[in-house]
Amino acid sequence: MTEVSAPPILPAYLHPLVRAFLDAPGAVEDALLQYGSPAHLVFPQVFDANLHRLQGVLEQRLTGFRICYAHKVNQSRAFVRTAERAGLAIDVASEAELAGAVGAGFGPARIEVTGPKGEGFLRTLIGSGATINVDNLWELRRLAELGADNAGVPVLLRVSGFPGTPVSRFGVPVRQLGEAFEILAAYRDRIDFRGFAFHLDSGEPVERVRAVENCLALTELAYEHGLAPTVLNIGGGFRQVFTADPEAFDAYVIALRESLLGRGEPMAWGGNTFGYHLDGGAVHGTPVFHKYANTVPADRMLADLLDTGLETHGGRTVARIADENLLELWLEPGKALVDHAGITAARVEFVKETADGSILVNLDVSRDTVTPADQEVMVDPILLAPAANSATATADSGPAGVFLAGRLCLERDLITNHKVWLPRRPGPGDVIVFPNTAAYHMDLSAATASMHPLPPKLAVTQHDGSFQVCRDHDYEPAPERHEVQ
Ligand SMILES: *Cc1c(COP(=O)(O)O)cnc(C)c1O
Repeated sequence: MTEVSAPPILPAYLHPLVRAFLDAPGAVEDALLQYGSPAHLVFPQVFDANLHRLQGVLEQRLTGFRICYAHKVNQSRAFVRTAERAGLAIDVASEAELAGAVGAGFGPARIEVTGPKGEGFLRTLIGSGATINVDNLWELRRLAELGADNAGVPVLLRVSGFPGTPVSRFGVPVRQLGEAFEILAAYRDRIDFRGFAFHLDSGEPVERVRAVENCLALTELAYEHGLAPTVLNIGGGFRQVFTADPEAFDAYVIALRESLLGRGEPMAWGGNTFGYHLDGGAVHGTPVFHKYANTVPADRMLADLLDTGLETHGGRTVARIADENLLELWLEPGKALVDHAGITAARVEFVKETADGSILVNLDVSRDTVTPADQEVMVDPILLAPAANSATATADSGPAGVFLAGRLCLERDLITNHKVWLPRRPGPGDVIVFPNTAAYHMDLSAATASMHPLPPKLAVTQHDGSFQVCRDHDYEPAPERHEVQ
């Protein structure tokens, strides 16, 4: 007899509040019946819980800090209202995000504007009172030219190109800073230079430490130019933890790599290699989905950074150096604040078999609605138990290895290009939930392709053990905070 081993799975971590919502009989079904399927659901109380953890790390170590919620991670107004109510600042990267922040109650002193800005946006920002995080020397010169005398436009300078860091399209390269200092010194009455900023795409701790060291050195240089920076902005990039089981994740990836070499059951749709290179009977490289393997939560990543001793400063920690130099530490977390604070629910339309025997579970949602543009989401979607009165529920068939297909009439609209083992073969009407979609998954690249409308966004809260669901836009945070268990 051959041993039948359990199929490889990618179990998702779920916040207890989200777990409780999924387990509440009829809760998801009722929301879909009322508002339509598919739907995005956001959980402002989970945002609050994430915020508490980051704040705890900062309060223990620093006298001056500011958290700017990076709005671009999600369009949710409920999150923006939650950030406003909690007293945060906000990082906006477009005219529409700025309008959203103002509409949600943020005054200019709590708004920071990052990202590439054209002439029109710069003109809007001058005189608004918002802090402009300058991306390049053209922007800095335009601010100097457009600013009124004594306007004191608050400005941070985003720096990039630190020795050893990969080249970035953003920021002023370190080697152009001589020119930046000249502009800042010459237009001191028009531009209120508040300090240096960086934002790294990479989650690598050593790169972040190096960037901090460089910005501290630049801060000293700025003093030599007669400037008086008071802020050090370390950006966002604090990671999420998607997986509930790192060992299962590793086992899945090993099985996937084997399958790419033709061993075992096929696990890739349409010749996908997920960023791996196949060469000489071996699999090389880093897969597109590597972030789903992370096990270090954002608050620990932040604590580790602040507790790092810098040799250039006699071994004193980053936090102590910031405090001693009266530098207010700013950060711009996006994904760390919305981690586990959103899910996307969709319905199975039909299930079909393809010419090669693959099972395609076709949903009423498309790939761009639940995945970041170029990545493969490596956590298993959750197949909910059929509604009690469901006529469409299929018999319990045991685990089924399937690919999830989207609703667009495009070959590439596969929601999963890797095989997903569901606990049973689903049928029409079943509900599938994509976990942890709030950060960049639900609306960074979503489009109204084929004229499908965007899914409604709903806010879910729990009070006294029962759940309330409303439209995201109508959500108002409670005056006092509700603790999440
Ligand atoms: C996108 C972005 C952030 C947020 O990044 P996360 O990785 O979501 O924390 C912060 N700052 C800037 C400048 C950004 O562009």
